[in-house]
Amino acid sequence: MRLSKFGQKFTGESGILQLMADLGQAMTTDQEIFMLGGGNPGHIPQVQARLRQRMEAILANDNEFERLVGNYDAPQGEKDFVEALAGLLRRECGWDVQPENVALTNGSQITFFYLFNLFAGAFADGSHKKILLPLTPEYIGYVDAGLTDDFFAANKPEFEYLDEHTFKYRVNFDALEITDDIGAICVSRPTNPTGNVVTDNEIKKLDALARKHHIPLIIDNAYGTPFPNIIFTEATPLWNENTILCMSLSKLGLPGARTGIIIANEEVVEAISALNAIISLAPGSFGPVMALDMVRSGEVIKLSQEVIKPYYQGKAEQAIDVLWEELHGLDFYIHKAEGAFFLWLWFKGLPITSQALYERLKGRGTLVIPGHHFYPGLKEEWPHKYECIRMSYAQDEAVVRQGIRIIAEEVKKAYGEV
Ligand code: PLP
Repeated sequence: MRLSKFGQKFTGESGILQLMADLGQAMTTDQEIFMLGGGNPGHIPQVQARLRQRMEAILANDNEFERLVGNYDAPQGEKDFVEALAGLLRRECGWDVQPENVALTNGSQITFFYLFNLFAGAFADGSHKKILLPLTPEYIGYVDAGLTDDFFAANKPEFEYLDEHTFKYRVNFDALEITDDIGAICVSRPTNPTGNVVTDNEIKKLDALARKHHIPLIIDNAYGTPFPNIIFTEATPLWNENTILCMSLSKLGLPGARTGIIIANEEVVEAISALNAIISLAPGSFGPVMALDMVRSGEVIKLSQEVIKPYYQGKAEQAIDVLWEELHGLDFYIHKAEGAFFLWLWFKGLPITSQALYERLKGRGTLVIPGHHFYPGLKEEWPHKYECIRMSYAQDEAVVRQGIRIIAEEVKKAYGEV
Protein backbone atom coordinates (compact mmCIF):
# COMPACT_ATOMS: atom_id res chain seq x y z
CA MET A 1 0.00 0.00 0.00
CA ARG A 2 1.51 3.36 -1.02
CA LEU A 3 0.51 5.98 1.46
CA SER A 4 0.70 9.75 1.47
CA LYS A 5 2.82 11.58 4.05
CA PHE A 6 -0.38 11.93 6.09
CA GLY A 7 -1.00 8.19 5.78
CA GLN A 8 2.56 7.37 6.77
CA LYS A 9 2.47 9.70 9.75
CA PHE A 10 -0.78 8.36 11.17
CA THR A 11 -0.17 4.67 10.54
CA GLY A 12 3.55 4.50 11.22
CA GLU A 13 5.66 4.11 14.33
CA SER A 14 4.09 5.86 17.24
CA GLY A 15 4.75 5.42 20.92
CA ILE A 16 1.13 5.85 21.89
CA LEU A 17 -0.15 3.46 19.23
CA GLN A 18 2.29 0.78 20.30
CA LEU A 19 1.45 1.33 23.95
CA MET A 20 -2.30 1.20 23.40
CA ALA A 21 -1.96 -1.98 21.33
CA ASP A 22 0.19 -3.41 24.09
CA LEU A 23 -2.33 -2.55 26.77
CA GLY A 24 -5.20 -3.92 24.69
CA GLN A 25 -3.32 -7.17 24.10
CA ALA A 26 -2.45 -7.54 27.76
CA MET A 27 -6.14 -7.20 28.60
CA THR A 28 -7.01 -10.25 26.49
CA THR A 29 -4.62 -12.72 28.17
CA ASP A 30 -5.74 -15.20 30.82
CA GLN A 31 -3.29 -13.74 33.31
CA GLU A 32 -4.74 -11.63 36.14
CA ILE A 33 -4.22 -7.98 35.19
CA PHE A 34 -3.71 -5.01 37.49
CA MET A 35 -4.71 -2.17 35.24
CA LEU A 36 -3.00 0.99 36.42
CA GLY A 37 -2.21 2.05 32.89
CA GLY A 38 -5.18 3.56 31.09
CA GLY A 39 -6.99 6.87 31.34
CA ASN A 40 -10.43 5.38 31.85
CA PRO A 41 -12.46 7.06 34.57
CA GLY A 42 -13.76 4.92 37.42
CA HIS A 43 -17.30 3.54 37.31
CA ILE A 44 -18.80 5.59 40.13
CA PRO A 45 -22.12 3.99 41.17
CA GLN A 46 -23.96 7.30 41.94
CA VAL A 47 -22.87 8.80 38.63
CA GLN A 48 -23.84 5.71 36.69
CA ALA A 49 -27.24 5.57 38.43
CA ARG A 50 -27.83 9.22 37.51
CA LEU A 51 -26.91 8.58 33.87
CA ARG A 52 -29.17 5.54 33.74
CA GLN A 53 -32.00 7.65 35.12
CA ARG A 54 -31.41 10.25 32.40
CA MET A 55 -31.42 7.56 29.70
CA GLU A 56 -34.73 6.26 31.02
CA ALA A 57 -36.16 9.78 30.95
CA ILE A 58 -34.99 10.24 27.35
CA LEU A 59 -36.81 7.05 26.41
CA ALA A 60 -39.93 8.05 28.34
CA ASN A 61 -40.10 11.68 27.18
CA ASP A 62 -42.26 12.44 24.20
CA ASN A 63 -40.14 12.31 21.03
CA GLU A 64 -36.80 12.95 22.84
CA PHE A 65 -35.22 9.64 21.82
CA GLU A 66 -36.39 10.05 18.22
CA ARG A 67 -34.84 13.53 18.03
CA LEU A 68 -31.62 12.30 19.66
CA VAL A 69 -30.99 9.52 17.17
CA GLY A 70 -32.78 10.91 14.13
CA ASN A 71 -31.14 14.31 13.51
CA TYR A 72 -27.76 15.79 12.69
CA ASP A 73 -26.89 18.69 14.97
CA ALA A 74 -25.46 21.94 13.64
CA PRO A 75 -21.66 21.81 13.20
CA GLN A 76 -21.26 23.95 16.33
CA GLY A 77 -23.01 21.25 18.38
CA GLU A 78 -26.35 20.53 20.06
CA LYS A 79 -28.07 23.88 20.47
CA ASP A 80 -29.87 23.36 23.79
CA PHE A 81 -26.72 22.03 25.45
CA VAL A 82 -24.60 24.88 24.08
CA GLU A 83 -27.08 27.41 25.51
CA ALA A 84 -27.37 25.61 28.85
CA LEU A 85 -23.58 25.39 29.20
CA ALA A 86 -23.05 29.06 28.37
CA GLY A 87 -25.62 29.91 31.07
CA LEU A 88 -23.93 27.62 33.61
CA LEU A 89 -20.51 29.18 32.99
CA ARG A 90 -21.94 32.69 33.33
CA ARG A 91 -23.57 31.78 36.65
CA GLU A 92 -20.79 29.61 38.10
CA CYS A 93 -17.65 31.34 36.87
CA GLY A 94 -18.89 34.86 36.14
CA TRP A 95 -17.54 34.74 32.59
CA ASP A 96 -19.28 36.54 29.74
CA VAL A 97 -19.83 33.31 27.80
CA GLN A 98 -22.54 33.40 25.14
CA PRO A 99 -23.65 30.45 22.98
CA GLU A 100 -21.40 31.91 20.24
CA ASN A 101 -18.44 31.14 22.50
CA VAL A 102 -19.14 27.39 22.73
CA ALA A 103 -18.41 24.62 20.23
CA LEU A 104 -18.67 20.87 20.70
CA THR A 105 -16.47 18.15 19.21
CA ASN A 106 -16.37 14.39 19.21
CA GLY A 107 -14.11 14.25 22.29
CA SER A 108 -11.38 16.58 23.44
CA GLN A 109 -8.74 14.37 21.81
CA ILE A 110 -9.94 15.61 18.42
CA THR A 111 -10.26 19.11 19.89
CA PHE A 112 -6.49 19.13 20.29
CA PHE A 113 -5.94 17.81 16.79
CA TYR A 114 -8.06 20.70 15.48
CA LEU A 115 -6.60 23.43 17.68
CA PHE A 116 -2.96 22.43 17.36
CA ASN A 117 -3.18 22.31 13.58
CA LEU A 118 -5.07 25.61 13.42
CA PHE A 119 -2.33 27.44 15.29
CA ALA A 120 0.84 25.51 14.43
CA GLY A 121 2.41 23.82 11.41
CA ALA A 122 2.97 25.33 7.96
CA PHE A 123 1.81 28.92 7.35
CA ALA A 124 1.07 30.57 3.99
CA ASP A 125 4.09 32.88 4.31
CA GLY A 126 6.40 29.86 4.40
CA SER A 127 6.95 30.01 8.16
CA HIS A 128 6.47 27.06 10.50
CA LYS A 129 5.01 27.44 13.98
CA LYS A 130 4.93 25.23 17.04
CA ILE A 131 2.76 24.65 20.09
CA LEU A 132 4.62 25.57 23.27
CA LEU A 133 4.16 23.27 26.26
CA PRO A 134 5.47 25.41 29.13
CA LEU A 135 5.57 22.55 31.61
CA THR A 136 6.58 19.02 30.71
CA PRO A 137 5.86 16.19 31.53
CA GLU A 138 2.61 16.75 29.63
CA TYR A 139 -0.26 14.66 28.21
CA ILE A 140 0.82 11.72 26.01
CA GLY A 141 -2.15 12.29 23.70
CA TYR A 142 -0.61 15.49 22.29
CA VAL A 143 2.50 13.71 21.00
CA ASP A 144 1.23 12.70 17.56
CA ALA A 145 -1.46 15.35 17.06
CA GLY A 146 0.51 17.52 14.64
CA LEU A 147 0.19 17.21 10.86
CA THR A 148 3.82 18.23 10.41
CA ASP A 149 7.04 17.25 12.14
CA ASP A 150 8.81 19.31 14.78
CA PHE A 151 5.47 20.44 16.12
CA PHE A 152 6.10 21.17 19.80
CA ALA A 153 8.47 23.27 21.85
CA ALA A 154 8.71 22.20 25.48
CA ASN A 155 10.09 23.45 28.73
CA LYS A 156 11.64 21.45 31.56
CA PRO A 157 10.07 22.10 34.98
CA GLU A 158 11.49 23.41 38.22
CA PHE A 159 11.24 21.11 41.23
CA GLU A 160 9.79 22.02 44.57
CA TYR A 161 10.36 19.47 47.34
CA LEU A 162 7.45 19.38 49.77
CA ASP A 163 8.53 16.56 52.09
CA GLU A 164 10.88 13.55 51.99
CA HIS A 165 8.77 11.77 49.35
CA THR A 166 6.61 14.50 47.78
CA PHE A 167 7.48 17.05 45.12
CA LYS A 168 5.75 19.44 42.74
CA TYR A 169 6.72 20.69 39.30
CA ARG A 170 6.63 24.42 38.66
CA VAL A 171 6.81 26.34 35.40
CA ASN A 172 10.35 27.58 34.90
CA PHE A 173 9.52 31.06 33.62
CA ASP A 174 13.20 32.03 33.46
CA ALA A 175 13.76 29.40 30.76
CA LEU A 176 10.48 29.96 28.93
CA GLU A 177 11.11 31.44 25.51
CA ILE A 178 8.26 32.62 23.34
CA THR A 179 9.89 33.09 19.99
CA ASP A 180 8.22 34.12 16.72
CA ASP A 181 7.71 30.48 15.78
CA ILE A 182 5.31 29.80 18.67
CA GLY A 183 1.68 29.69 17.49
CA ALA A 184 -0.04 28.92 20.82
CA ILE A 185 0.69 27.88 24.40
CA CYS A 186 -1.00 24.77 25.81
CA VAL A 187 -1.17 23.40 29.33
CA SER A 188 -3.29 20.68 30.93
CA ARG A 189 -4.71 21.74 34.31
CA PRO A 190 -4.92 19.35 36.21
CA THR A 191 -2.07 17.73 34.34
CA ASN A 192 -2.09 14.23 33.00
CA PRO A 193 0.32 12.45 33.88
CA THR A 194 1.41 14.16 37.10
CA GLY A 195 -1.76 15.24 38.90
CA ASN A 196 -0.21 18.70 39.09
CA VAL A 197 -2.45 21.75 39.13
CA VAL A 198 -0.66 24.74 37.67
CA THR A 199 -1.14 27.48 40.29
CA ASP A 200 -3.32 30.56 39.83
CA ASN A 201 -0.18 32.65 39.70
CA GLU A 202 1.39 30.45 37.00
CA ILE A 203 -1.77 30.48 34.90
CA LYS A 204 -2.04 34.29 35.21
CA LYS A 205 1.56 34.64 34.06
CA LEU A 206 0.96 32.31 31.10
CA ASP A 207 -2.16 34.30 30.22
CA ALA A 208 -0.19 37.56 30.29
CA LEU A 209 2.60 36.06 28.15
CA ALA A 210 0.12 34.73 25.60
CA ARG A 211 -1.58 38.13 25.27
CA LYS A 212 1.73 39.93 25.05
CA HIS A 213 2.76 37.72 22.11
CA HIS A 214 -0.72 37.75 20.50
CA ILE A 215 -1.10 33.98 20.64
CA PRO A 216 -3.85 31.96 22.32
CA LEU A 217 -3.49 30.16 25.64
CA ILE A 218 -5.09 26.70 25.36
CA ILE A 219 -6.08 25.25 28.73
CA ASP A 220 -6.88 21.54 28.74
CA ASN A 221 -9.50 21.36 31.45
CA ALA A 222 -10.47 17.68 30.95
CA TYR A 223 -10.36 17.08 34.74
CA GLY A 224 -10.93 20.64 35.88
CA THR A 225 -13.57 23.01 37.17
CA PRO A 226 -16.47 23.55 37.12
CA PHE A 227 -16.93 19.90 36.09
CA PRO A 228 -15.81 17.14 36.62
CA ASN A 229 -13.85 19.13 39.21
CA ILE A 230 -11.27 16.45 40.01
CA ILE A 231 -9.13 19.05 41.78
CA PHE A 232 -7.99 18.65 45.38
CA THR A 233 -6.41 22.06 45.81
CA GLU A 234 -7.40 25.70 45.47
CA ALA A 235 -7.52 26.66 41.79
CA THR A 236 -9.42 29.49 40.14
CA PRO A 237 -10.55 28.67 36.61
CA LEU A 238 -9.52 31.19 33.97
CA TRP A 239 -11.19 32.21 30.73
CA ASN A 240 -11.12 35.29 28.55
CA GLU A 241 -11.26 36.08 24.83
CA ASN A 242 -7.64 35.01 24.37
CA THR A 243 -8.07 31.72 26.22
CA ILE A 244 -9.32 28.53 24.63
CA LEU A 245 -10.72 26.41 27.42
CA CYS A 246 -11.15 22.75 26.47
CA MET A 247 -13.53 20.61 28.48
CA SER A 248 -14.88 17.10 28.13
CA LEU A 249 -17.74 14.92 29.32
CA SER A 250 -15.40 11.91 29.55
CA LYS A 251 -14.09 12.20 33.08
CA LEU A 252 -17.57 13.03 34.30
CA GLY A 253 -18.38 9.41 33.46
CA LEU A 254 -19.26 9.58 29.76
CA PRO A 255 -16.06 8.61 27.88
CA GLY A 256 -18.14 6.45 25.52
CA ALA A 257 -20.17 9.47 24.42
CA ARG A 258 -17.05 11.16 22.94
CA THR A 259 -17.97 14.75 23.72
CA GLY A 260 -15.47 17.58 23.84
CA ILE A 261 -16.32 21.21 24.59
CA ILE A 262 -14.47 24.36 23.54
CA ILE A 263 -15.02 27.76 25.15
CA ALA A 264 -13.39 30.43 23.03
CA ASN A 265 -13.88 33.65 21.11
CA GLU A 266 -16.28 33.60 18.17
CA GLU A 267 -13.55 33.32 15.55
CA VAL A 268 -12.19 30.12 17.10
CA VAL A 269 -15.72 28.71 17.53
CA GLU A 270 -16.41 29.36 13.84
CA ALA A 271 -13.16 27.65 12.86
CA ILE A 272 -14.03 24.59 14.97
CA SER A 273 -17.55 24.48 13.50
CA ALA A 274 -16.03 24.53 9.99
CA LEU A 275 -13.67 21.67 10.90
CA ASN A 276 -16.57 19.70 12.39
CA ALA A 277 -18.60 20.19 9.21
CA ILE A 278 -15.79 19.10 6.91
CA ILE A 279 -14.44 16.24 8.97
CA SER A 280 -17.58 14.79 10.57
CA LEU A 281 -20.59 16.92 9.44
CA ALA A 282 -21.60 17.43 13.06
CA PRO A 283 -20.50 16.41 16.53
CA GLY A 284 -22.48 13.55 18.07
CA SER A 285 -25.67 14.36 19.97
CA PHE A 286 -25.59 11.59 22.54
CA GLY A 287 -23.26 13.18 25.14
CA PRO A 288 -24.84 16.64 25.07
CA VAL A 289 -28.35 15.21 25.35
CA MET A 290 -27.33 12.90 28.21
CA ALA A 291 -25.80 15.80 30.14
CA LEU A 292 -28.39 18.43 29.16
CA ASP A 293 -30.65 18.46 32.22
CA MET A 294 -27.72 18.24 34.66
CA VAL A 295 -26.04 21.22 33.01
CA ARG A 296 -29.27 23.19 32.68
CA SER A 297 -30.15 22.76 36.38
CA GLY A 298 -26.58 23.09 37.64
CA GLU A 299 -26.78 19.61 39.21
CA VAL A 300 -23.56 18.73 37.39
CA ILE A 301 -21.69 21.08 39.75
CA LYS A 302 -23.11 19.39 42.85
CA LEU A 303 -22.43 15.94 41.44
CA SER A 304 -18.83 16.91 40.66
CA GLN A 305 -18.27 18.54 44.02
CA GLU A 306 -20.03 16.03 46.24
CA VAL A 307 -19.52 12.72 44.44
CA ILE A 308 -16.82 12.75 41.75
CA LYS A 309 -14.14 14.81 43.48
CA PRO A 310 -14.33 13.01 46.88
CA TYR A 311 -14.35 9.64 45.08
CA TYR A 312 -10.99 10.33 43.43
CA GLN A 313 -9.52 12.26 46.33
CA GLY A 314 -10.19 9.32 48.68
CA LYS A 315 -8.60 6.93 46.20
CA ALA A 316 -5.55 9.18 45.81
CA GLU A 317 -4.99 9.32 49.56
CA GLN A 318 -5.39 5.56 49.87
CA ALA A 319 -2.95 4.86 47.03
CA ILE A 320 -0.37 7.27 48.47
CA ASP A 321 -0.57 5.55 51.88
CA VAL A 322 0.01 2.16 50.24
CA LEU A 323 2.93 3.56 48.21
CA TRP A 324 4.63 4.99 51.32
CA GLU A 325 4.20 1.61 53.03
CA GLU A 326 5.36 -0.56 50.15
CA LEU A 327 8.23 1.65 48.95
CA HIS A 328 9.57 2.25 52.46
CA GLY A 329 13.38 2.46 52.46
CA LEU A 330 13.65 3.55 48.81
CA ASP A 331 14.57 6.95 47.38
CA PHE A 332 11.15 7.50 45.82
CA TYR A 333 9.10 10.62 45.15
CA ILE A 334 5.43 11.06 44.35
CA HIS A 335 4.24 14.20 42.62
CA LYS A 336 1.78 16.02 44.88
CA ALA A 337 -1.67 14.68 43.99
CA GLU A 338 -3.60 17.85 43.26
CA GLY A 339 -6.05 16.50 40.69
CA ALA A 340 -6.93 14.11 37.84
CA PHE A 341 -6.57 10.43 38.79
CA PHE A 342 -2.92 9.58 38.26
CA LEU A 343 0.12 9.37 40.45
CA TRP A 344 3.51 10.20 38.99
CA LEU A 345 6.20 8.16 40.65
CA TRP A 346 9.82 9.18 40.44
CA PHE A 347 12.56 6.70 41.31
CA LYS A 348 15.72 8.78 41.57
CA GLY A 349 18.76 7.13 39.99
CA LEU A 350 16.73 4.09 38.90
CA PRO A 351 19.34 1.72 37.42
CA ILE A 352 16.98 0.56 34.64
CA THR A 353 14.91 2.72 32.30
CA SER A 354 11.21 3.31 32.93
CA GLN A 355 10.62 1.35 29.70
CA ALA A 356 12.48 -1.67 31.14
CA LEU A 357 10.51 -1.31 34.37
CA TYR A 358 7.29 -1.15 32.35
CA GLU A 359 8.23 -4.40 30.54
CA ARG A 360 9.00 -6.16 33.80
CA LEU A 361 5.74 -4.99 35.34
CA LYS A 362 3.81 -6.05 32.25
CA GLY A 363 5.38 -9.48 32.59
CA ARG A 364 3.78 -9.62 36.04
CA GLY A 365 0.38 -8.44 34.85
CA THR A 366 0.74 -4.88 36.14
CA LEU A 367 0.20 -2.15 33.60
CA VAL A 368 1.54 1.39 34.02
CA ILE A 369 2.79 3.95 31.49
CA PRO A 370 6.55 4.56 31.26
CA GLY A 371 7.39 8.21 31.85
CA HIS A 372 9.44 9.05 28.76
CA HIS A 373 6.29 9.19 26.59
CA PHE A 374 5.14 12.35 28.36
CA TYR A 375 7.65 14.79 26.91
CA PRO A 376 6.28 15.96 23.55
CA GLY A 377 8.78 18.43 22.10
CA LEU A 378 11.49 17.98 24.73
CA LYS A 379 14.37 16.84 22.58
CA GLU A 380 17.25 17.08 25.01
CA GLU A 381 18.32 13.99 26.85
CA TRP A 382 17.48 14.16 30.53
CA PRO A 383 17.80 11.17 32.91
CA HIS A 384 14.62 12.23 34.76
CA LYS A 385 12.59 11.28 31.66
CA TYR A 386 13.52 7.63 32.24
CA GLU A 387 13.06 7.54 36.02
CA CYS A 388 9.29 8.06 36.26
CA ILE A 389 6.12 6.08 35.66
CA ARG A 390 2.45 7.07 35.63
CA MET A 391 -0.06 4.94 37.48
CA SER A 392 -3.83 5.42 37.55
CA TYR A 393 -5.72 4.91 40.81
CA ALA A 394 -9.17 5.00 39.21
CA GLN A 395 -9.70 1.23 39.47
CA ASP A 396 -10.87 -0.84 42.46
CA GLU A 397 -8.87 -0.51 45.65
CA ALA A 398 -7.76 -4.17 45.62
CA VAL A 399 -6.41 -3.82 42.06
CA VAL A 400 -4.51 -0.63 42.92
CA ARG A 401 -3.11 -2.13 46.13
CA GLN A 402 -1.86 -5.31 44.43
CA GLY A 403 -0.47 -3.32 41.49
CA ILE A 404 1.49 -1.10 43.88
CA ARG A 405 2.82 -4.16 45.71
CA ILE A 406 4.19 -5.52 42.43
CA ILE A 407 5.65 -2.11 41.44
CA ALA A 408 7.44 -1.97 44.81
CA GLU A 409 8.87 -5.48 44.38
CA GLU A 410 10.16 -4.76 40.88
CA VAL A 411 11.63 -1.36 41.81
CA LYS A 412 13.40 -2.87 44.84
CA LYS A 413 14.74 -5.65 42.62
CA ALA A 414 16.00 -3.08 40.08
CA TYR A 415 17.82 -0.99 42.73
CA GLY A 416 19.25 -4.23 44.18
CA GLU A 417 20.83 -5.11 40.84
CA VAL A 418 23.43 -2.34 41.01
N1 PLP B 1 -6.75 15.80 27.80
C1 PLP B 1 -6.28 15.10 28.83
C2 PLP B 1 -5.33 15.76 29.77
C3 PLP B 1 -6.65 13.76 29.00
O1 PLP B 1 -6.16 13.06 30.02
C4 PLP B 1 -7.55 13.16 28.08
C5 PLP B 1 -7.94 11.75 28.20
O2 PLP B 1 -7.40 10.97 28.94
C6 PLP B 1 -8.01 13.94 27.02
C7 PLP B 1 -7.60 15.25 26.92
C8 PLP B 1 -8.94 13.38 25.99
O3 PLP B 1 -10.18 13.10 26.50
P1 PLP B 1 -11.50 12.90 25.63
O4 PLP B 1 -11.09 12.80 24.18
O5 PLP B 1 -12.09 11.62 26.13
O6 PLP B 1 -12.36 14.08 25.88
